[in-house]
Amino acid sequence: MFSDKNIVCKDCGQNFTFTASEQEFFAEKGFSNEPQRCKDCRVARKQTSSRGSEQRMMFDAVCANCGRPCKVPFEPRSDRPVYCSDCFRR
Ligand SMILES: [Zn+2]
Ligand SMILES: [Zn+2]
Repeated sequence: MFSDKNIVCKDCGQNFTFTASEQEFFAEKGFSNEPQRCKDCRVARKQTSSRGSEQRMMFDAVCANCGRPCKVPFEPRSDRPVYCSDCFRR
């Protein structure tokens, strides 16, 4: 059914092996696309993209309105009130 396949990485141009077991895994998950990047580049891309969006540094804070602990994307300072997302929307 599946056999190892050599693919050239889109990012670094190196050959990498799309192994039979990986192909099986992809087929199981219903992915029809072959990977375009080697493992290293995939990991690197994952890290950069997650760093840019949701995995931002979050700081623990206490909401100045309802007193609930919450997380904010900036360092809370004593001279500025911090609100949780619920209170912030209001
Ligand atoms: Zn690569
Ligand atoms: Zn609140």
